[in-house]
Amino acid sequence: MNTQTAIQVAGVSKWYGAFQVLKGIDLTVRKGERIVICGPSGSGKSTLIRCMNRLEVHQEGSIVVNGIELTNQLKRIDRVRSDVGMVFQHFNLFPHLTVLENCTVAQRWVRRLPKKQATEIAMKYLERVHIPEKADKYPGQLSGGQQQRVAIARALCMNPSIMLFDEPTSALDPEMVKEVLDTMISLAADGITMVCVTHEMNFAREVASEVVFMDGGQIIERNQPDILFSAPTHERTKRFLGKLL
Ligand code: ADP
Ligand code: MG
Repeated sequence: MNTQTAIQVAGVSKWYGAFQVLKGIDLTVRKGERIVICGPSGSGKSTLIRCMNRLEVHQEGSIVVNGIELTNQLKRIDRVRSDVGMVFQHFNLFPHLTVLENCTVAQRWVRRLPKKQATEIAMKYLERVHIPEKADKYPGQLSGGQQQRVAIARALCMNPSIMLFDEPTSALDPEMVKEVLDTMISLAADGITMVCVTHEMNFAREVASEVVFMDGGQIIERNQPDILFSAPTHERTKRFLGKLL
């Protein structure tokens, strides 16, 4: 595999029982690329992105992340996960830990960093997402937008080369969407590889190297955002975008 490839998904199929959720997905993400995945609810977007760090297991095809093929070998899964940050729709912060503790827990127990160093790194990233003053609060004391920015900071604390986002703004009140998108836009500007499931088309226009449209467990088409949005090839893409734009 090319060393410039961050993620290579080749011929990936997956079933939930008898239901085939992914149907022969091929997708290459080059280092530094920012891929936006969109498509109707139930089309398999979350499943695909979760397969990329083995939160879900595929049954056919291969997924190679930074040169490591994802198999059941735990060692490989750990190596991949330590290099891939993930941000979910519902933040998934630990409610009984402070913001700072949320950001240091994996550094201390997975990276085995001393408390002082983990705290320094956490504060650096909390500053990066503009909420260092919330370090001693609990997630429940923060707005949704602030919690999501903590989730992004927490992921960044592990120094990932790839960030996966699964609809990071879709659980937020409209007035909080921008602060999270702005954080993601600034990450994109730093050159981190990003795969982001989102329907925020302005975000896609601004940062995506390519937009992938999924429907029914398949990639229907992918293209640069300006091309995909202005001249989609497939009827299904047109119909979907017609509802969004
Ligand atoms: P999307 O993120 O595009 O909305 P998902 O990947 O979440 O789609 O789900 C794709 C399909 O797989 C949906 O029909 C969903 O109901 C089904 N599905 C998702 N997770 C499971 C699961 N754990 N067990 C069974 N079916 C699932
Ligand atoms: Mg989803």
